[in-house]
Amino acid sequence: ENDVPDKDSFRFFSLGGSNEVGRSCHILQYKGKNIMLDAGIHPAHQGLASLPYYDEFDLSTIDLLLISHFHLDHAASLPYVMQRTNFRGRVFMTHPTKAIYRWLLNDFVKVTSIGDSPGRDSSNDNLYSDEDLAESFDRIETIDYHSTMEVNGIKFTAFHAGHVLGAAMFQIEIAGVRVLFTGDYSREVDRHLNSAEVPPQSSEVIIVESTFGTATHEPRQNRERKLTQRIHAVVSKGGRVLLPVFALGRAQEIMLILDEYWQNNKEELGNGQVPIFYASNLARKCMSVFQTYANMMNDDIRKKFKDSRTNPFIFKNISYLKNLDEFEDFGPSVMLASPGMLQNGLSRDFLEKWCPDEKNLVLITGYSVEGTMAKYLLLEPEAIPSVHNPETTIPRRCQVDEITFAAHVDFRENLEFIELIGASNIILVHGESNPMGRLKSALLSNFSSLKGTENEVHVFNPRNCVFVDIEFKDVKIA
Ligand SMILES: [Zn+2]
Repeated sequence: ENDVPDKDSFRFFSLGGSNEVGRSCHILQYKGKNIMLDAGIHPAHQGLASLPYYDEFDLSTIDLLLISHFHLDHAASLPYVMQRTNFRGRVFMTHPTKAIYRWLLNDFVKVTSIGDSPGRDSSNDNLYSDEDLAESFDRIETIDYHSTMEVNGIKFTAFHAGHVLGAAMFQIEIAGVRVLFTGDYSREVDRHLNSAEVPPQSSEVIIVESTFGTATHEPRQNRERKLTQRIHAVVSKGGRVLLPVFALGRAQEIMLILDEYWQNNKEELGNGQVPIFYASNLARKCMSVFQTYANMMNDDIRKKFKDSRTNPFIFKNISYLKNLDEFEDFGPSVMLASPGMLQNGLSRDFLEKWCPDEKNLVLITGYSVEGTMAKYLLLEPEAIPSVHNPETTIPRRCQVDEITFAAHVDFRENLEFIELIGASNIILVHGESNPMGRLKSALLSNFSSLKGTENEVHVFNPRNCVFVDIEFKDVKIA
């Protein structure tokens, strides 16, 4: 049974994604309405263990479920919620999120089933089937950016969040109280995306990601230069470069950078001298989604789209690779392969093939979640376990490096955005405990001058399943 909050009290709690990165799922309760934000899985776990704590809440009471973007830690348990629980609410996401969700989760179902080792209870490992996915797909509704919808008296509007194609921030209004949920967001100018925008109306509560805590990113141009120079140096010595990437989203940004660099260094790298591969069985399907939704990208890239000679998503130096069998491993090459955290699948196969050679480089460009191989590899272990034979270890002599293109705000960008929103209640989610704790301290000290005034800023960093109750006394009903 659910503990129902006081009539005038706004309640927030997470079933996942609080004081951790992974399995995002947050619940809002106010004036008898229940809203769920995101339905992800935890990439470091498998099967039921990867789910948010759905048993802790009666999902049949949820009116509305909003999905911020297609990444697995925000969307991959949605078919489970819709098909395997008593959830009966309505589900919304943007058009591109829905289009990509379909293919991505189809792949996710396949990868997790292939990953089953004999002797393990595989029924427990498959959260849902292809049929569940297809049925859930038909019941998902879409929302356009900047349009407002209403479900059971709950109004909500989608805004650009940057981060990946289709990512949205949701501003939700219940009985005059406005809440902004950022999902994952970025504010830096990107090669292909619009950056996150500030909604025209104010919010009383902001639920904001804290992935990078108080860390500062290097300027984008420096990171691009580092990336291309590091890769160039390795391939000119005959090494192979593995870039583990999530199949879609940030991978396209990396491809735009590499394709341009190869084009500018044709004599040395072009014409197949050092081939670049994008190894994903989703490559072709998802490229067509990128083409279809060009109108949702930034002005700069939209201009180039009009002309097939300049269409930036028709890569001149990158070829698609469906599997390892069709790959001939001669000489230096650059391989973008999924999944991004090297848990299993193609990127893991390439890691195990290439990690014994010190000439090779594994370059991590995304955010690596605690407990995944990508995070472990950054500690430069002497050896790694083989995914197919866990008793066997493989020596790790390759170079390992990290240059982030994860498209999450850093501290300065996050603080600036939080100040622009001006909410007096800040709820931190989507961050490991330490960076989140540091962000909380930095925010409290930033707003310390308001302490004791009527504009005092409250910052919360709750753990999973811990309630944050906020009283709204004299809310002006719109
Ligand atoms: Zn994300």
